[in-house]
Amino acid sequence: MSDRYANFAHSGAGRFLVKRLGLPDPPRLRRHSAGDPVLAGPAQIGGSGRLVEPLHKIIEGLPKAEGGDHNAVLIFDATAIVDTAGLRALYDFFHPVIRSLTPSGRVVVLGSPPELCANAREATAQRALEGFVRSVGKEVGHGSTAQLLYVAPGAEDAIESTLRFLLSGRSAYVSGQVVRIGPTSVDVPEDWERPLVGKTAIVTGAARGIGAAIAEVLTRDGAHVVCLDVPAAGEDLSRVANELKGTALQLDLTAEDAPRRLADFIATRHVHADVFVHNAGITRDKTLGRMDEQQWRSVLDVNLSSQERINDVLLAENLLGGNGRIVSVSSVSGIAGNRGQTNYATSKAGVIGLVEANAAAVAARGLTLNGVAPGFIETKMTAAMPMFVREAGRRMNSMSQGGLPVDVAETIAWLANPASGGVSGNVVRVCGQSLLGA
Ligand code: NAD
Repeated sequence: MSDRYANFAHSGAGRFLVKRLGLPDPPRLRRHSAGDPVLAGPAQIGGSGRLVEPLHKIIEGLPKAEGGDHNAVLIFDATAIVDTAGLRALYDFFHPVIRSLTPSGRVVVLGSPPELCANAREATAQRALEGFVRSVGKEVGHGSTAQLLYVAPGAEDAIESTLRFLLSGRSAYVSGQVVRIGPTSVDVPEDWERPLVGKTAIVTGAARGIGAAIAEVLTRDGAHVVCLDVPAAGEDLSRVANELKGTALQLDLTAEDAPRRLADFIATRHVHADVFVHNAGITRDKTLGRMDEQQWRSVLDVNLSSQERINDVLLAENLLGGNGRIVSVSSVSGIAGNRGQTNYATSKAGVIGLVEANAAAVAARGLTLNGVAPGFIETKMTAAMPMFVREAGRRMNSMSQGGLPVDVAETIAWLANPASGGVSGNVVRVCGQSLLGA
């Protein structure tokens, strides 16, 4: 489904009208293409905490586009801020430079997790960073993004994969997010362009839409991808799997024997899987009073309960390799709620609960568990929405446009990276900083 308004706004006449009438102006987002450098131009680093040194080292080592008079990246280490008076340092660094940030620029603030701060004053000041970053995300415009990384003490060397994602075009539709990074030993890939070489990834709901894009991006990153979907989607599934030189697995995740069949498939064909992406999902929208029992039950079962049953067998039978990754697809509806979606929003909020409740136990086994919550993504699912709802969904975010399936896929690829072991228990929104449920 093409965004006709955005196409018009990019045309000559459209540009004129959009400016004159003050209409939403969806910028062209910088998305990653093969061979693109991580940094689109100069980066300026500020602040004075425990992360300044590792930051300089990482930024100097990143591939960078030549030239450019203006900063493409502004990074501030706020870990030295220990009280509210110290927050002034944010103003002093950003005020003189923020207006000259390039289009699709990147702002990243790094702080200490408030829950790990030494005292209440420091925790208060660190918590305040969230409001700063979310507001900067809403101000910068032109496809630029702003994020906050809470880096736990001891995790200073675990931030590179996250910076590579957030500073590059891979995070085009991710803004206003707070990511927590914990201490871990980091498994640095030999080749950052193909970090999943030698790994096996399983993606559910891979016959089309976002799942097909996830399978494609994980394949690009070097993984062998097992594409899973219902038998009724068999033709599309085979096409996707063949194109990617992956494997097609026809399985209805709600079938009683699905966990057993999946476990046997992994054990006999691959010994173990390294990445498992719970992407399959359905909607059966109706207001609560008009919803039949089947509509309630099927949505809860596909979107939530099947994820629990699969995780149980993956963990009980050690089917994930060391440094394994589980990523669950939630939705902004699970954060904000949505009219006509009591079933769907319950299931997607439940996915967030699943991530939060299990992340610590999973981390203790050397694995990570994270969630991704897409906002409005251009797929068959959103193309089927009534026009007014669709237009509202597209424009009510800092990017004034919908995201693409690849935006969700790139986010999952970052979480699946072997170097992202410090990122667990996070739910990252891929929503262009949607105004809903902030
Ligand atoms: P889609 O309908 O295009 O694809 C979903 C896939 O899941 C289909 O191929 C379907 O056959 C498969 N599936 C459904 N039930 C299954 C089952 N029982 N067993 C195995 N496979 C099954 O949807 P999409 O837009 O690509 O969405 C993918 C995920 O992203 C879903 O979890 C959805 O809730 C979530 N999401 C999408 C959006 C959006 O804007 N499109 C927004 C937020 C969240």
